[in-house]
Amino acid sequence: MQRFEALQKPTAIITGSIYLEHETGRHPESVGRLARFPQIIAELLAEETGHFISLEPQEAPLTQIARVHDASYLEDLRDFCESGGGRIDPDTHVSEGSYRTARYAVGGLLRGIEAVLVGEVQNTFALVRPPGHHALTNRSMGFCLFNNVALAARHLIEEYGLHRILIVDWDVHHGNGTQNIFYDDPRVLYYSSHQSPLYPGTGSLDEIGVGQGCGYNVNLPLPPGSGDTVMEQAFTRILEPLAERYEPEFILVSAGYDAHWRDALHTTALQVSTLGFATMVDRVKRLAETFCQGRLALTLEGGYDPAALADSVYATLRVLAGESPEKAASHDLRRSRRELPANHEYILALLEEIRKTHSL
Ligand SMILES: [Zn+2]
Repeated sequence: MQRFEALQKPTAIITGSIYLEHETGRHPESVGRLARFPQIIAELLAEETGHFISLEPQEAPLTQIARVHDASYLEDLRDFCESGGGRIDPDTHVSEGSYRTARYAVGGLLRGIEAVLVGEVQNTFALVRPPGHHALTNRSMGFCLFNNVALAARHLIEEYGLHRILIVDWDVHHGNGTQNIFYDDPRVLYYSSHQSPLYPGTGSLDEIGVGQGCGYNVNLPLPPGSGDTVMEQAFTRILEPLAERYEPEFILVSAGYDAHWRDALHTTALQVSTLGFATMVDRVKRLAETFCQGRLALTLEGGYDPAALADSVYATLRVLAGESPEKAASHDLRRSRRELPANHEYILALLEEIRKTHSL
């Protein structure tokens, strides 16, 4: 029997037209990213298997957002948006609706997490924007306003008393904001694979945390062209042994799809395929099943090629509901990038160095 059939509880899809109210005009992080989502979601919900439910996002209260962000930043952002918006930092554009939409991005993820925690669903994917992993406590950065995944981790810590949360970040960019927020905090283990060198320039392997958080920040700065095989090797050699040692109580994923081979934002080129993403989802899901009763929540980060994004999100949702990666990624863009990069020996040595750095 397929694993798909064995699953008891559904996967929650968080979505809503609210996420179109953060308008950025001609910008890579635009409403157009979500254009294909309604069709995908309708298709999944129309299946009579009961594997998927859709949940309405809610607006996160300011008290929850203040768990990570400074009150003065919240006020400044609100005022800037209310006065019509514009360019709030060199990379990030906001409109009048952005402040409210960003609150719904946080609230959407938290809504999904609540559903997981009460056992209403098995896992969840919050298809929100704006993304979050570059946002710092006191400012926006890199298309991000509020750090959605960091706020989710704080919610789990402060509302539910959890103290071992694993964040897996496979966006092609390093999540400097998330790293920064938990740099001295062992209650969050942050694992980021990203292309290097690339924006924002952080994420070297010797950034391992400080104080009590020392050893709980794990960076994999990968060269362009790494591809599916390297991502899998990184899971085998680093992520999985880390999880075994940490025994997470909940797993959060900063799910960016700008490492897809079709995505060409600036010089992003990690060359991951839809099947590569589906495989990572499957392996994270297994970790959640092993260590935390399957408790797993994904939140959308980057991904700027609408076709690759939609294809990867579709495959991700199907794997979350229990389908095999091979079957879930049967669309056109699954073309696997399994061929080893020319510098594979260098990458293996890099992975070995990271293992050594973290005593794995
Ligand atoms: Zn990114």
